[in-house]
Amino acid sequence: MPGCELCDGDGGELIVVREKWRVVRVSGTDGAAYPGYCRVVWNEHVRELTDLNAADRQVFMEALFTLEIALRGALRPEKMNVASLGNLTPHLHWHVIPRFRDDPTFPKPVWAISTPSAPSLDTLTEKQAGDRAYTDAKWVSVVKRAFATD
Ligand SMILES: [Zn+2]
Repeated sequence: MPGCELCDGDGGELIVVREKWRVVRVSGTDGAAYPGYCRVVWNEHVRELTDLNAADRQVFMEALFTLEIALRGALRPEKMNVASLGNLTPHLHWHVIPRFRDDPTFPKPVWAISTPSAPSLDTLTEKQAGDRAYTDAKWVSVVKRAFATD
């Protein structure tokens, strides 16, 4: 669809691509603030999950589940947030976001304004920053492996 951000572009760094969907890593500020933040994007332009037939809905949900399991294993987050919004980009995509107690908006949604009490990336301890650098390098390969057998 002309003018649609997710038809015109990938929507992030491609990690896994299949015929009907793709997993992208969210880059930029959001990706740096929330390690492991990914989106599952349906390749064809549809607005809602319920626009898909039953078989394709299952295909989409299985991709979400596989991604969530891989991210949980790689990053051991406090909680997983899985959300479909798309108010500004009405092309079927779900956000899959590992959450950590020291992320900028925990325990609020990632779309909340950072609270003064939450540590910013600038105030991470060296150990936290080191842990994040390690897991950040590792989780992409874990996600790729999780989809390697399907
Ligand atoms: Zn689109």
